[in-house]
Amino acid sequence: MSETLTVAAVVPRTEAEGPGHRYALWVQGCPMRCPGCCNPEFLRFVGGEERTAADVIAEAMAEDVEGVSFLGGEPFAQAPALTTVAAAVRQAGRTVMIFTGYTLQELQAPMAPIGAAALLAQTDLLVDGRYDASQRTTERRWVGSDNQGLHFLTDRYTPDDPRFAEPNTLEIRIRGDQILVNGFPVRGARTKL
Ligand code: SF4
Repeated sequence: MSETLTVAAVVPRTEAEGPGHRYALWVQGCPMRCPGCCNPEFLRFVGGEERTAADVIAEAMAEDVEGVSFLGGEPFAQAPALTTVAAAVRQAGRTVMIFTGYTLQELQAPMAPIGAAALLAQTDLLVDGRYDASQRTTERRWVGSDNQGLHFLTDRYTPDDPRFAEPNTLEIRIRGDQILVNGFPVRGARTKL
């Protein structure tokens, strides 16, 4: 039987959640409660949609994307199933980026979440650490607060890639009667509302 994961949301093709066009998947459930979290509806370990890893792989592979991004919620709370997805994505020559509330050090420690090492081994780019509203930034692309790190875990990306120096972007989609917003605020976008 295929592994399952609990999915909060998917944007099949976005330019706002990592380099290039990406298939972005938000998991449901996070054990942390960072004040000011931008996805409070994704924190409880209830709700979301149960999907098989095989189904997610097929959906991601059907998109013309550079890679996938996993966000949350907390991706490392569902590490085994996401490892299966990530391995298939990388085997197809695409890349994996993960946004996690754990620090890289925590993910490499003996008390790390189950399957963390295997998922890290399938990760090209990692944004790590709790969101700290007192250190909020809009200056670092794809990073929410200055305590967070951007780790290049493989040679698929390098810090001198000009895309990492571009401003953040925000995407707004209208689907039926729903408005979907994803991405990060542009520099200065919240200076005056
Ligand atoms: S780790 Fe991320 S998803 Fe979880 S509470 Fe903190 S900001 Fe929200």
